[in-house]
Parts: sequence; structure tokens; C-alpha cells
Amino acid sequence: MRSFLISLLATSCLLGCSDAKIDSGEASQSNSEAKVKTVRSREVDKLIKIAMAGTHAYDITESLTTEIGPRVGGSPEEAKAREWAVKKFKEIGLQNVRIEPFTMPYWERGIETAAIVSPFPQQLYITSLGGSVATPSEGIEAEIAFFPTFEDLKTAPESGLEGKIVFISGRMEKAPDGAGYGPANQKRRLGATEAAKRGAIAVVIRSVGTDSHRFPHTGMMRYQEDIKKIPIAALSAPDADQLERTLKRGQKVSLKMTLTPKWSGDRQSGNVIGQITGTERPDEIVLVGGHLDSWDLGTGAVDDGAGIGISAGAAQVILESGLKPKRTLRVVAFGAEEVGLLGAYAYVKAHKDTDLDRHVLATESDFGAGPAYEVKSGVRSGEHVIRDMANAMGLPMSEGATNGGPDIGPMFSEGVPVMRFQQEGTDYFDLHHTPDDTFDKINPDEIAQNVAAFATMMWLASEADTDFRGQ
Ligand SMILES: [Zn+2]
Repeated sequence: MRSFLISLLATSCLLGCSDAKIDSGEASQSNSEAKVKTVRSREVDKLIKIAMAGTHAYDITESLTTEIGPRVGGSPEEAKAREWAVKKFKEIGLQNVRIEPFTMPYWERGIETAAIVSPFPQQLYITSLGGSVATPSEGIEAEIAFFPTFEDLKTAPESGLEGKIVFISGRMEKAPDGAGYGPANQKRRLGATEAAKRGAIAVVIRSVGTDSHRFPHTGMMRYQEDIKKIPIAALSAPDADQLERTLKRGQKVSLKMTLTPKWSGDRQSGNVIGQITGTERPDEIVLVGGHLDSWDLGTGAVDDGAGIGISAGAAQVILESGLKPKRTLRVVAFGAEEVGLLGAYAYVKAHKDTDLDRHVLATESDFGAGPAYEVKSGVRSGEHVIRDMANAMGLPMSEGATNGGPDIGPMFSEGVPVMRFQQEGTDYFDLHHTPDDTFDKINPDEIAQNVAAFATMMWLASEADTDFRGQ
């Protein structure tokens, strides 16, 4: 499907571009999965051609991941990334480029080691989950209490794990839309609380991921206020397998782990904003974005350097085309997404009493750089415009609901209409939150297709005489 989507896009408009609407006819996949019809205006055709021929997002993502690298919310590196974004946004020609700052608590990773002490002593590959408390500096050594799934822990008796290190396994299913993530993520978010309720002193989980490499996956966890806070970390998938095989031998297994992360007080983060000011309705805003922060283990290429590249790259394509949008096109690089959507909430807070009610349509790219394969609508009226966006890209509409993306969710809750290009992400959770999330994983043709999709969305939302709010 991936190469089909790209080649269809590149070869459409074969019938010439002289009509107001270009109908490049029907194409069907050889496996007859889907029939797609591409219909485009001359303007959209121009945007798609510029996007597909260029390396806009690819270059922006390369620059961010090379010149900044890892950039955890609140860190000095994230601050440098904001300066990078201001410079990059100005370089590509965006107007009114600015940082909207906010403060946030900052969590820093420390030392992280683990080993099976008995019966078969050996080192394991582990990483702290974001927000975890530390172990004592000399580490924790205890017997493992094993739960094949998070559900098994949740349904276990309310005590009986006193002095134990809980190990929660459970595999995440691969899916193009990442549907396995939500269920698999329960143990990451809530595992420490459920284990502490039953007397445990620490937790290790099988990483929330779909790979079999020896990289653990980090990600944010949460404590419940009235429950004791115990340290929690993730094992790489092969290490979780190793620990399971060891447990199957029926002997007591003991583990030693040392984690020294810490909360370092309040730091500054911020959202970086730039725009192309509309010619006829400058106070009406079409918003696209991604998140500027990343986890610290990789260089944040697929999560979410690509999203910054795609949204800024799409604005760059519109500027290159010479087309003048009627509405204002706003690009937002959200800060501190990974640690709790802090930039997204700060954006709503900063704009609620000013222009949030004039946000016409919003979307985000935060699912890697795989090709868009369908379109989801989250508007209350004017869905025909969303369908035009899908048609222009040769993509089917999805029945599924959307909140526009993680950083768009809070503004969607405040009534901002949204849409989303669903990206092919079967392999996304092989890399997600690991040291393996690096620039070499970005395919230039696939990320260019996303730029084409975003430029199409921005242009059509800008030109449509449509109120997507349905008021
Ligand atoms: Zn992300």
C-alpha cells in the first residue's frame, strides 16, 4: 500500500491541468483493496506537485534531529529547539514568529541498571518511565512477582506483594493505526499504582512496543495521589522474554534495579508559532502542528520531528507556490507534549479569551512519517470540504472519529473543528520512545506525501467559505 499511495500521487493529473477541476480518473489497487478517485483544483495540483518534488519536511526534520537531537520537555535542549524553530520558521518565510512560554515541572533521567541476581545472574536492558521516582541509591533487590498481563495484576488480591518487585508482561499488537497502543499502555500509566496498592516496592514492565530489539521504550507514567509512589521501569522485549523464560523454571527469581531520576523543579517550556497571514480573513485561523519536544533516548525523528517538518514544510510549500490564502495559516510547534500535553493546554489557556473561537480547522501530525492512507473528519458541518481534501490526495474517508491529534485534543474539547490524515504506522511502535527513533527511519517520498496532504488541507480550509463549527 505504501508505494501505491506515493506513485498514484506522483502520476496523477496526467489528463492536463487546464480545467478548473482536474479529474485524474479512477485508479484501483491491484489487490482491489480500495478504489480512489483524485479530483483537484489547479491550485491544489500545484501545491501537491511542489510538495512531491521537494524535500521540505525531510530537510526540516534532518535539521532538528541533527542540530538539536533529543529534547525533553523543560530541558535546556528543548529551549535550544525553540530557538531553532524560531530561526527555521523565519527562514522559510513565516510571519509573526513568536514563542508563547509556560512553566512546567522538569523530570530528568538518571542512572538506570537492572540485573537478574538469581538463579541466572545477568544484566538486563531497562529504562525509567517518565515521572518515576528513584530507587535508593544502592538500588532495590527483591523477588519477582509475575503478572502475564496488566489485567492479571488489577484483578489480583488487594495485598500479598509486600517487598516484591512486580513484573508485568503483555504483548502489544501491531496495527496500521496503532490501535494496540491504548490497551498496552495501561500497564505503563497505571502499573506502579496497582502494584503499590498491593504492597510491591518496585515495578518492571515489558516495554510498550512492537519490536524485538534490545531497546526499552520509555514514556510517561502517573501516580495516584493517595497511593505510595514506587519506582517503575521498562525492560526491552528480549529482556522481558528472558525474564519470563527464567520464571518458567519454577525457582524464585530475584532482580536488582537502580534508578536515579529526579524532579528538578520548575523550568520554562513554550510553544513556537508562525503564520502566513490571510489576505481576506486574517482573523480566521487554520492551524497545523506537531510537537517540538521528544523523549531523550533517540533523536525524536518519527516522534515528532516529522510532525514539525510536515507542518512547517507544508507552509513552506504554500509560500513557494505564490498562492495567497484568504484565511491565516498558523503553524504551531507545541512544547512538552510527551510529559503530559503541557503545550497543548498552555495554547488553549493563552488563546481561549482571544482567538480560539476563530480557529476554523486544526490538525496535527504526530504518528511518524508513514504515508497518509485515509482521512478522518472531526467537523460538525462542511464535511464536503474534508472530502475534497481526501479526493485531492486520492485517499478514502474513514468512518473513525478523531480529535485532530494529541496536541489538538484540548482545543477540540473547546469546540475547534478538526480533521486528520491517518498515517500508516504499522512499524511506528518499533521505534516509539526508544534510542532507535532516529532520522535514518524517515523515507523522503513518504514524508513528502504528508506535506502534500497538509498543504492541501491548509489551502482548501483557507479558501472554503465554510463554517466547520456548524453554528
Ligand atoms: Zn508524539
